[in-house]
Amino acid sequence: MIGLGDIEKRFGDNLVLKGVSVAIAEGSVTALVGPSGGGKSTLLRCINLLELPTSGTVRIGEDTLAFGPGHKVATRDIQRLRRQTGMVFQNFQLFPHRTAVENVMESLTVVLKWPQARARERAMSLLEKVGMAHKADAWPATLSGGQQQRVAIARALAPSPKVLLCDEPTSALDPELAQEVVDVLGKLASEGTTMVMATHDLRLASKIAREVVFLDAGVVVETGTAEQVFGNPQRERTKRFIATLR
Ligand code: ADP
Ligand code: MG
Repeated sequence: MIGLGDIEKRFGDNLVLKGVSVAIAEGSVTALVGPSGGGKSTLLRCINLLELPTSGTVRIGEDTLAFGPGHKVATRDIQRLRRQTGMVFQNFQLFPHRTAVENVMESLTVVLKWPQARARERAMSLLEKVGMAHKADAWPATLSGGQQQRVAIARALAPSPKVLLCDEPTSALDPELAQEVVDVLGKLASEGTTMVMATHDLRLASKIAREVVFLDAGVVVETGTAEQVFGNPQRERTKRFIATLR
């Protein structure tokens, strides 16, 4: 349902992704793990085309775009694919001058041109789902990090994306607040939300991820179920990395 085919991403002389292929099944949760600088964020940004791959293919559902020499990709094709994705960032990135509910409504009213009342209704039901309905009218700065991240998750889900992309969603949070976010993501996972998340958080990854992709220096070193990769890694590089997380 989501496929990355032989993705290369180059920043100047730095080849950051060296031919990465990943298949993600509908309704599955995939954790992207690996050392810092290995290319996890870049890979997520190539799925939602915040970064354009230097070469390779990105498929979301029936929609495939090919990049590289000889391929010209139109902006509207990029926007169409990007709209199939929702992104959650390490540092929440809520709009500071919008209330919680307005943050969630924004893409519905601005991009999808929904009427206010309908957008507010959907935003409230999403805030309910993440346990934040009681803070609908709060400003982001008055919320805890865990609450801000839960609003950010509701915002990412508002336009009903085919995949939720999360980049280190718990890394900026104290353990207790991280747990709130793990619980919300776990609930979404159990409801069948397709997710790809970069994370160092073994608790998060082992609780909700079914598949694990271990990425090191721009190469997929190992993939498998969470049980296999965390419990019984096959490659030496993976073993060493998993040991550092415990
Ligand atoms: P990770 O998320 O696994 O820590 P990143 O994807 O952030 O890794 O980074 C992988 C490599 O790509 C790093 O060497 C980083 O410096 C480089 N990189 C990431 N984004 C950019 C950018 N916009 N411009 C130049 N280099 C970048
Ligand atoms: Mg990163």
